[in-house]
Amino acid sequence: MRASFWLGRIAGIRVGVNWSVLVIFVLIAWGLAASRFPATYPQYSNSAYIVAAVLTAVVFFISLLAHETSHALVARRNGLHVQDITLWLFGGVARLSGEASNPGAELRIAGVGPLVSLLLGGVFLGAAALLRAGGYDGLMLAGFAWPGGINIALAVFNVIPAAPLDGGRLLRSIIWWRTGDRLKATRWSSRAGQVFGWGLVALGLFGFLTGDGFGALWLALIGWFLVGAATAENQQATVRRQLGEMAIRDVMTPNPETAPGSMTVEGLLSSELIKHRHSSFPLTDDRGAVTGLVTFNQIRRVPPQEQTSTRLRDIACPLDQVAQARPDEPAADLLPRLSECAEGRALVFSDGALVGIVSPSDVSRVLRWMGAPTPTR
Ligand SMILES: [Zn+2]
Repeated sequence: MRASFWLGRIAGIRVGVNWSVLVIFVLIAWGLAASRFPATYPQYSNSAYIVAAVLTAVVFFISLLAHETSHALVARRNGLHVQDITLWLFGGVARLSGEASNPGAELRIAGVGPLVSLLLGGVFLGAAALLRAGGYDGLMLAGFAWPGGINIALAVFNVIPAAPLDGGRLLRSIIWWRTGDRLKATRWSSRAGQVFGWGLVALGLFGFLTGDGFGALWLALIGWFLVGAATAENQQATVRRQLGEMAIRDVMTPNPETAPGSMTVEGLLSSELIKHRHSSFPLTDDRGAVTGLVTFNQIRRVPPQEQTSTRLRDIACPLDQVAQARPDEPAADLLPRLSECAEGRALVFSDGALVGIVSPSDVSRVLRWMGAPTPTR
């Protein structure tokens, strides 16, 4: 899921929207304008229903954004890097690099989202109650009551203890806190996510077959998405367990060849460096300090006519977007920190000097060497 366009920044965090949001927006606005609002308040004109429905749908998406932004801000306060926030088909996602360092941080990051939804729900329902108490009974009442109810439903749905829902993270933080075993906690919360997801799929399909229509199919689709996401989390936990006590030092490729950031793409392609078949190069500045990482995929995307004018540093990931590690760190701790920009690579520094690089193939090679034992379940 990627952002199709960017809306701007909230507190410095980039906020994007995937085109699939438009589908939901239209469905919500249409449902409100065509059936819900006219059924409750039949005395208005069609254009009044449409304006009220669009405004209500906008309020709904602002509520979603508030939920995700709260996760992002608390994550940032707890030392995590927030890549961006994207709204899409199934709500919103705040993409974080890395994982909470302790159960308390995990609990706070996961818990704040549903809390914000609950709070917004209370505010909207409170506003609706005030209007009613003031003797008003019209379309604006529904415009407050609907997002109020939806926000409370969102808060409740999100605390169901099943990964990747916020409740799954809460469950994980509690098991982690009680057992001190983060892997075991991840395993349990993702198992719960799979069970819950399959439950929704079954319920949705049953509903659809017995004539519940689109809503039931939607439920099955959400279930399917949850199963996939929970399974992915479980797999990551499995790799972590397999890596076990292994240190970054045991996994990395030592002493990687670097390239000057000022070198052009053409310069690199015609140099000796390219013969070594490395899939990426750390870049250095004039004084030899590492400034970023350029991958072969980034190099390949430069059209031939631009190869002489494009410098490596123009297309590379800047250092702050590349995972960094120390040789003595557990290799498993690196996995959640790996970023998309560097295509899953990390640079290893010791006393400020570059000593190695970790690539996805390094990790899979180590797992193959070890015969990748299936962990006990
Ligand atoms: Zn959330």
